[in-house]
Amino acid sequence: MKVVHTIKEVREIVKAWRKEGLSVGFVPTMGYLHEGHKSLITKSVSENDRTVVSVFVNPIQFGVNEDLAKYPRDLKRDTLLVTSAGADLIFNPEPSEMYPAHFTTSVNTTEVTEHLCGARRPVHFGGVCTVLTKLFNIVMPDRAYFGQKDAQQLAVVKRFVRDLNFDIEIIGCPIVREDDGLAKSSRNTYLSPEERKAAVILSKALKEGKELILNGERNARKVIDAITKVLYTEPLAKVDYVSIVDNTNIQPVDVIKGEVLVAIAVYIGTTREIDNFIIEVND
Ligand code: AMP
Repeated sequence: MKVVHTIKEVREIVKAWRKEGLSVGFVPTMGYLHEGHKSLITKSVSENDRTVVSVFVNPIQFGVNEDLAKYPRDLKRDTLLVTSAGADLIFNPEPSEMYPAHFTTSVNTTEVTEHLCGARRPVHFGGVCTVLTKLFNIVMPDRAYFGQKDAQQLAVVKRFVRDLNFDIEIIGCPIVREDDGLAKSSRNTYLSPEERKAAVILSKALKEGKELILNGERNARKVIDAITKVLYTEPLAKVDYVSIVDNTNIQPVDVIKGEVLVAIAVYIGTTREIDNFIIEVND
């Protein structure tokens, strides 16, 4: 396992692999890796001859009042996890390597970014699509792996890869959770012990919503209201959004039908947590 910091080094290593006819999987991350990231890396290792993991806290996907400066970083720890998962290369560039002076190009999507986090974090997905375009062009993988934890991101990536004809297979992977149900996240480290206990309300509320749908409720408003009510039983929780959208175009639905994404964003203290489930209803 090698750690490199420049685009040139990644290109040389991947080129040598390509010469040998090896396939390449890619897992883009912002580091501070946990079991959720590891599940993506393990899947890539099992499906490709070589796996590249990028560790880069991408400044352009953070809004001005967001947590860029305090986002947790620990390359030593990340290196151990990536090594134990069997990947071959970490790409850990400096922001100046990715964004030299006069960087003036961006990649944006519409429609899929209108709602949910796209509405709440206006610069976020432009930053995500731009950095992924760069990373895809640097690594040139056969397959790239993304978590359903960021379900809208997964839909956005599938869309821009299709629209811009990247020859890369995008693979979604299930959410990995703590024992009490909280979705694993690098941002969970921000939570105080009291907030950590309170954060379980996200998965509890989603469970309630899922049960309603499984029991036949098809009115999206009713499910949204039920989820919101559970969230507000927790005094430390402040709801950012509770939404039900179709899982392809990420547009709100009134009636639950086909494959829908039930997604929530909730502040626990000052930490913004997201969670979701996808359910297919064919009746
Ligand atoms: P991040 O480092 O937060 O940008 O995440 C990098 C990738 O890991 C994204 O594709 C995330 O969706 C995925 N990921 C983060 N947390 C989880 C989790 N708990 N389960 C599965 N995938 C995850």
